[in-house]
Amino acid sequence: MTALFSVRDLYLSFPDHSRKPLFGPAPRIEVLKGLSFDIPEGRITGIVGESGSGKSTLGRVLVRLLAPQSGQVAFAGQQIGQLDEAHLRPIRRDLQMIFQDPMSSLNPRHRVWQIIARPMQRYGLGGGRDKAVEALEKVGLPAEFGARYPHQLSGGQRQRVGIARAIALGPRFILADEIVSGLDVSSQAHVLTLLKDLARDMQLTVAFISHDLSVIRHLCDEVMVLDHGQIVDHGPVQRVFDQPGSDVTRSLLAAIP
Ligand code: ADP
Ligand code: MG
Repeated sequence: MTALFSVRDLYLSFPDHSRKPLFGPAPRIEVLKGLSFDIPEGRITGIVGESGSGKSTLGRVLVRLLAPQSGQVAFAGQQIGQLDEAHLRPIRRDLQMIFQDPMSSLNPRHRVWQIIARPMQRYGLGGGRDKAVEALEKVGLPAEFGARYPHQLSGGQRQRVGIARAIALGPRFILADEIVSGLDVSSQAHVLTLLKDLARDMQLTVAFISHDLSVIRHLCDEVMVLDHGQIVDHGPVQRVFDQPGSDVTRSLLAAIP
């Protein structure tokens, strides 16, 4: 199995402004403390951990919204950890992200079809209304939804639009950060099934961040458990559920109703 991402000795810290001295630079908080792992191509990898364990920060490094302080991040064989924006441009389209709160990422003044079409235009992929509607249909929303505004959609429908916008760009990798956390149980199930089917059909590699292991069990092939910026467990979902490799994994398992 080939690795789409190969990450080695990844360290990332943020300046701690709450402890900034009167003079000199602020001390730094280490958030990712030497992570090494591979993300296999064409699979769904769950990233789970308590709030504050570094999941979103790690996700943001993978899609290169953040650059690490040190360590290697190889994507499809290319070192991207320290690439500048000009050199990142050719791979930006391959690294897409779906956010936790789609309302904050869907422009409220744009119709649904425009929300999908704009990034396509930016990447020179056409991006007319027809193409946008095709993407909508792939996520199970009828063409009429293209004319709506985000506030005229339910939470689950908004997440589908977020997914449509990402897949319309034909990426290789999608980061999904807590995308079902705000949804009721039945919308959660629909969005998860949709993501799983799309990932299979489009041969996508997905990193799925969640604090909820029960969601990961239904969706993911592999799971990585983060604790205070370190990987404390990582492997096939079945193995991690049957033989948890850390106390953190055991306590996350115990929290499943
Ligand atoms: P998770 O997604 O697992 O809840 P995060 O990656 O969001 O965790 O955050 C991990 C830690 O990094 C937290 O302590 C958080 O406060 C801190 N952190 C995240 N982003 C920033 C930032 N931009 N500046 C300073 N600290 C941050
Ligand atoms: Mg987070």
